[in-house]
Amino acid sequence: MTWQEDAGRDLVRSFGERMAMFVRGEGSHLWDADGKRYLDFLAGIAVDSLGHAHPVFVAALANQAATLAHVSNYFATPPQLELAARLKRLAGTGESGRVYFGNSGAEANEAAFKLARLHGGAGRPRILALKDAFHGRTMGTLALTGKPWMQEPFLPMTPGVEFIDSTAEALEAALDDRVAALFVEPVKGEAGVIDLPDGYLQAARELTARHGALLIVDEIQTGAGRTGEWFAFQHAGITPDAITVAKGVGGGFPIGALITFGAASDLFYPGTHGSTFGGNALGTAVAGAVLGEIERADLVRNAAERGEQLRTAILGIESDLIGGVRGRGLLLGVALTHPVAKAVVAAAQEHGLVINAPNDETLRLVPALTIGDVEIDEFIELLTASVRTVEDALLLEAHSDTHTEAHA
Ligand SMILES: *Cc1c(COP(=O)(O)O)cnc(C)c1O
Repeated sequence: MTWQEDAGRDLVRSFGERMAMFVRGEGSHLWDADGKRYLDFLAGIAVDSLGHAHPVFVAALANQAATLAHVSNYFATPPQLELAARLKRLAGTGESGRVYFGNSGAEANEAAFKLARLHGGAGRPRILALKDAFHGRTMGTLALTGKPWMQEPFLPMTPGVEFIDSTAEALEAALDDRVAALFVEPVKGEAGVIDLPDGYLQAARELTARHGALLIVDEIQTGAGRTGEWFAFQHAGITPDAITVAKGVGGGFPIGALITFGAASDLFYPGTHGSTFGGNALGTAVAGAVLGEIERADLVRNAAERGEQLRTAILGIESDLIGGVRGRGLLLGVALTHPVAKAVVAAAQEHGLVINAPNDETLRLVPALTIGDVEIDEFIELLTASVRTVEDALLLEAHSDTHTEAHA
């Protein structure tokens, strides 16, 4: 039995065929079962902030496991309180902020959805979200996700959510005093690393405040330093009512959180939400150590600087296939001039590079925040080789087309 056969028989079919089976990782490298080495520029989809098997991650997990892993939310633990205080400080909530812990991005957004309903009550049944934005796969977060093809097999959705274009004009037209909240994904990662228009978050803050609606920013992919600020909303200099975080916060340990600002912090009251695992000592100790290492090693600045370095280097590759680079910091999308992203990802895998294609025209790059010159040089070499492979295949195809036509 090969691992492909085992996976095909035993694992749920909602994920496509697994591209490889990895057995070990170190820093920005992965090894498969045959001992082949890969450069990892996906980092578990923006999750492995410190790369693989980072000593800080390993020590925090081992030490906390040997001390106290889980006691339930009837009790507090030191790592939980430390992480809550750290998240409040990094997000800039001030004294009045509060943190709810879950185990994933979807759980953080479920909490945010309930926050919006608590704020809205009967008088504000409407919730606005952006077309094409991604907020999760559970029934609540799917209702917030502006992708009709994802929702279609699972209709009916939780009611009340309306999808609008990502422009200040569309927001102004849609907002009234019956809107409880606006959900925003500050860089649309799953949609292909699509930036919001300049000034959008400032306009969204002003308009939602005018109508008494909450501004909730989904920082699940953009948070924990990835875009070159701790959270993407900080580039815009605004204060939201709530943000959600997950992916990079745990560095590979599953954890998510809703962080509230100001009056939104008083909406949940006893009995309105909960989670058995959320915020347990093990997860919060690891996330605290991961964020502590990002601070200590100044990896937020590294994300900003390496992101620019990477963008320049990608634009320097001589290839008609590369049309541009979107995104910010170490959340980058390489726009292709032909819909061959899946072929480039496959070629990259052959060459020993892990990246992914959120759509047919985009490559997504979300490496560990720890990358330096060595990883960037290796990446450019491997991406160039992968793009050449696909270009050669396209040329062959074009050639054989001409050939067939000539004989027709
Ligand atoms: C990944 C992601 C989610 C969902 O997180 P899960 O941990 O997969 O549930 C939600 N929002 C955004 C912006 C994401 O990138």
